[in-house]
Amino acid sequence: MTSLCQKGYCFAGGNEIKFSEECGVFGGISYKYPIAPYIQQGLFMLQHRGQESAGICVGERNPFIYKNKGLVMEVLSDRVISKIRGRMGISHVRYSTQGGSDTTHAQPYVVTYLGEKVAVAHNGNVKAAVEMRKNLEKQGEVFITTADTEMILKKVIRELRKAPSKWTFEEVGKVLTENFTGGAWSILFFVPGKIFAYRDPMGYRPLSMCESIDGVFVSSEDTSFQMLEGKSVYHIQPGEGVEISRDGFEVKRFAEEMPSKKCVFEHIYFARPDSNVFGKNVYSSRVELGRKCALENPIDADIVIPVMDSGFAPAIGFSQQSGIPLQMGLMRNRWVGRTFILPEQQMRSTGVRRKLTPIKEVLNNKRVVVIDDSIVRGTTSREIVRLLKESGAKEVHFRSASPKIVNTCHWGVDIPTKKELIANKYDDTCGIRDFIEADSIAYLSIDGLKDIFGRDGWCYSCLLADCEKPENENSTKCAKLSESVC
Ligand code: AMP
Repeated sequence: MTSLCQKGYCFAGGNEIKFSEECGVFGGISYKYPIAPYIQQGLFMLQHRGQESAGICVGERNPFIYKNKGLVMEVLSDRVISKIRGRMGISHVRYSTQGGSDTTHAQPYVVTYLGEKVAVAHNGNVKAAVEMRKNLEKQGEVFITTADTEMILKKVIRELRKAPSKWTFEEVGKVLTENFTGGAWSILFFVPGKIFAYRDPMGYRPLSMCESIDGVFVSSEDTSFQMLEGKSVYHIQPGEGVEISRDGFEVKRFAEEMPSKKCVFEHIYFARPDSNVFGKNVYSSRVELGRKCALENPIDADIVIPVMDSGFAPAIGFSQQSGIPLQMGLMRNRWVGRTFILPEQQMRSTGVRRKLTPIKEVLNNKRVVVIDDSIVRGTTSREIVRLLKESGAKEVHFRSASPKIVNTCHWGVDIPTKKELIANKYDDTCGIRDFIEADSIAYLSIDGLKDIFGRDGWCYSCLLADCEKPENENSTKCAKLSESVC
């Protein structure tokens, strides 16, 4: 039987499980050659943002659309790309976590309205999506997918009620702002002859653009532009967008500036280290996180080892700060996919061992500090500690380069329900240490994190318990969050 969860959203124990979208978008216009190879390359650089499906929409008036389940180079293979003509296009990689993983959910999402095609590629999550969907359904709207993206597009069509070729950047921006502010959307629209790109007024997700001798391109992360020559890169600000056509491009503000809510998890885990997200280099942030973690949680040990890949830069920082040498105690098999999205807990545990194998010669009889970017359910850390001990490590001290994850995310990062989070399962940090069977455990503090990124302008929502959020600041403090080491 298909559960509600598999259909895209569900309720468990009073907690709404969001239909999470951790995606990447890339698009633009090329001046001299077909855009498809640029899209293939640009999207390939965003593969880490979604491995479930990939898709492309290229053309000017009657675009060619191709999308499927699979990785970028599988779906948009050289053979497919070589057949696609046209200089304008948008594309998408998708990673959803709660059902809806069939090809219908692959993006760009395309509809025909008044005889013209309009397509959309989206990274983020709509606020109060379930209620909005119900309201639209009551008004007679029908949906093919469970994704927020379809709802955004259908809402825009309802509000504008004219052929997509007559849509203006400002009109679409107005509909988005009036209906979806508070949600996360870095979003690309393909309308006849034009591409509109928008970053939501609170700026949860990144979006960058690049002007080069080859053309004008927009991407979730600026690492996509590495292959372009003679380029200048601009990080699109919250409430700003860019309109692109054969006549040129223009960066425009479509919404008033608001207090921004840049997702700190982009820096902790999600984005590529060679990207500059929200204008800040991700690798440097992660090294800083590791340094700070070492300062806050000193430990006497023989070696520091990273959990590859996102624990690598923090481990470098930890090693630099502590003076403890960095070693490769765990080898990552690069051909194994992400363990996080395997459905059953048992499969997840096995997944860790398929992905990471110990180098016994490095570990034997050593006091090891192991660094990961984050601890979510505790599955990875527990398996790693066991693996290291079985491989001869004398002591294993686990360090998380981010604070405890205590809340779900409604803005597009895949974080499970509150009750699945290991930090919520134990009243004190020693319980977590015992669960993962480590000799000690420590997290970076929330203050330490804010020292690095700043007090304001960032979304720290998944790292703050409800009672700690600014809107609830008068309620009782959560004592268990104040200590982060055991
Ligand atoms: P867990 O095993 O549930 O504690 O998950 C922790 C591991 O998952 C760490 O190695 C992280 O690098 C990784 N991770 C953290 N957040 C996410 C996410 N949103 N999606 C996929 N993997 C994640």
